Amino acid sequence: EQEVAEYRKSLAIRVSGFDVPSPVKTFEDCGFAPELMRAIAKQGYEKPTTIQCQALPIVLSGRDIIGIAKTGSGKTAAFVLPMIVHIMDQPELQKEEGPIGVICAPTRELAHQIFLETKKFAKAYGIRASAVYGGMSKLDQFKELKAGCEIVVATPGRLIDMLKMKALTMMRATYLVLDEADRMFDLGFEPQIRSIVGQIRPDRQTLLFSATMPRKVEKLAREILTDPVRVTVGEVG
Ligand code: ADP
Ligand code: MG
Repeated sequence: EQEVAEYRKSLAIRVSGFDVPSPVKTFEDCGFAPELMRAIAKQGYEKPTTIQCQALPIVLSGRDIIGIAKTGSGKTAAFVLPMIVHIMDQPELQKEEGPIGVICAPTRELAHQIFLETKKFAKAYGIRASAVYGGMSKLDQFKELKAGCEIVVATPGRLIDMLKMKALTMMRATYLVLDEADRMFDLGFEPQIRSIVGQIRPDRQTLLFSATMPRKVEKLAREILTDPVRVTVGEVG
């Protein structure tokens, strides 16, 4: 325990919550399958970034997380890699349709970046990812979603549109990521986020990432996460 505390301190990681898993030092420590390790190596990722060292074991253990770390710290892979593991862990005989992993991001640019990062790791497994955001034809998006996917990366407004059009169902969704939650609030997406969360089964795993934690975001986190571990890296938050 003392050693773990020292290691966290050396990385400027602060955690709160009960039974917090120890941070890893390498991707090998995460127990990823060979295909995923190859995809990680292909990206040129040699070792996990600081937020990844602490967030990966927490998320892989199935816990909810609040992750606070500045832009550029590698938060995307911290939720994408465990999402791939989560999806591969689902029992094969699932009759339901619709995405298993749902990622919400504030802007189409961010959603697109996450989509690209997701595809790099999903490809090796034949996991299908769809991007859902404004500026693309709704009909094309409708058709793509109807064809089926395991992962949806979306801006909140367009995802609500697609849900209203019944382009997808959230029956299978068990892994929800709210990325850049503070920016989504700044852009006025709180009602859409609440609506989306309300359509996803309560026994889901929920991950919330943010560069800052304004009171309104803190309140939402308290309402929608279950026994989360809170991880802060560096001087942010
Ligand atoms: P954030 O979401 O925290 O702003 P990103 O997930 O966009 O950060 O990552 C920032 C950059 O770091 C990206 O170019 C990404 O490819 C790269 N990156 C992520 N994880 C690693 C890693 N373990 N090793 C090297 N580069 C990484
Ligand atoms: Mg990010």
